[in-house]
Amino acid sequence: MRTRQRTSTIHFEQLQRWTTRSGRCTNCQKHRKRSTRIWATLNPFNVNSRGVPKSREEVIADLDRQLKEWHAKPFVCATCEQSIPLPCGVESAEV
Ligand SMILES: [Zn+2]
Repeated sequence: MRTRQRTSTIHFEQLQRWTTRSGRCTNCQKHRKRSTRIWATLNPFNVNSRGVPKSREEVIADLDRQLKEWHAKPFVCATCEQSIPLPCGVESAEV
């Protein structure tokens, strides 16, 4: 029986997916290709709606759902995405 306590780094398994997408940017109309990495870690804090730690299958299903969402979004190139201001930063333009 081991009683010695040591600080250790727990390495959780990471699952990831890469995907690429090409299309015409809805903002600048240029034809662009984009890629993204979607990842999640298998850890006890990653719980599902029932409060139970997600199984590998559930985490994979989550990643696949996020991939579908990414592909379903309007295609905007990286340049435009960075230049489009965030809604929370909108200033009142009333004169
Ligand atoms: Zn663009």
